[in-house]
Amino acid sequence: MKTIGLLGGMSWESTESYYRALNEGVKRELGGLHSARVALYSVDFAEIEALQREDRWAEAGERLAEAARCVQAAGADFLLIATNTMHKVAPEIEAALEIPLLHIADATAERLREDGIRRVGLLGTRFTMEQAFYRERLTERFGIEVRVPEARERETVHRVIYEELCHGRIEASSKAEYLAIIDSLHEQGAEAVILGCTEIALLVGQADTRVPLYDTTAIHAASAVARALDA
Ligand code: GLU
Repeated sequence: MKTIGLLGGMSWESTESYYRALNEGVKRELGGLHSARVALYSVDFAEIEALQREDRWAEAGERLAEAARCVQAAGADFLLIATNTMHKVAPEIEAALEIPLLHIADATAERLREDGIRRVGLLGTRFTMEQAFYRERLTERFGIEVRVPEARERETVHRVIYEELCHGRIEASSKAEYLAIIDSLHEQGAEAVILGCTEIALLVGQADTRVPLYDTTAIHAASAVARALDA
C-alpha cells in the first residue's frame, strides 16, 4: 500500500472527513484491521484564510509548498490538497515536489465523465466559483460546462462556508438555502451539482435532494484509496 500525503487543516472540519474516508476506504477494500497509510500536515487555517482575503496568493502558495515538502519528506507517495480553493496554487505546490499531486478537480471530472454528465452546477467558495483555476480546468481538460449560482447566492454559499461550516456549525436555515440554490442550478439545466468545497457535505447530502450531487471530499478520498492500493 502506498502512503497518502494529505495537506489539510483547510479547514480541519473537512480534513476529519478525509481522514475517515481514507481509512474507511482502505478497510472496505482490505478488511480486518487494515487502515490507510497517511502522512498528514495540518496547517493553521487562520493564517491561510488571511492570505486568501488579502489576495496574497503567492505567499499562500509558498507556505503550502513548504508544508507539502514536509509531507513528501514524511514518506508520502503522492499528495492530496484537502481543499478545492487552495488548488488555485496547485501549480506552485506541484513544482516544489517530486511526488505527484492528485488534483481534486481531475478526480471529480473523471467521475462526472464516467457518469456521462456534461453540464454541472458548482458550489464552493467565491474563489472557486468565480475564478478561472477550477472552472477552466473542468471545461478545458474534460469538456464539462460549468454553471455557478447568481451573485447573491454565491455570497450566501461563501459566507456559510467561512462563518459556519469551517467552525463546525450546521444550521438548518443554511441547509434550506443551499438546497434552494441547488434546485435553481438544476432548473437552469445543470444535470448535477459539484459540492466544490470540502465542507459542504457536512451540510447537505444526497439524501436531501433528487439532484445528483458530486461531493469532492468523498470523490477525492476514494480516488486516493484506489491509487494507494493500485499495485
Ligand atoms: N475547504 C474549502 C474548499 O474546499 C474552503 C476552505 C479553503 O479556503 O481552503 O474550498
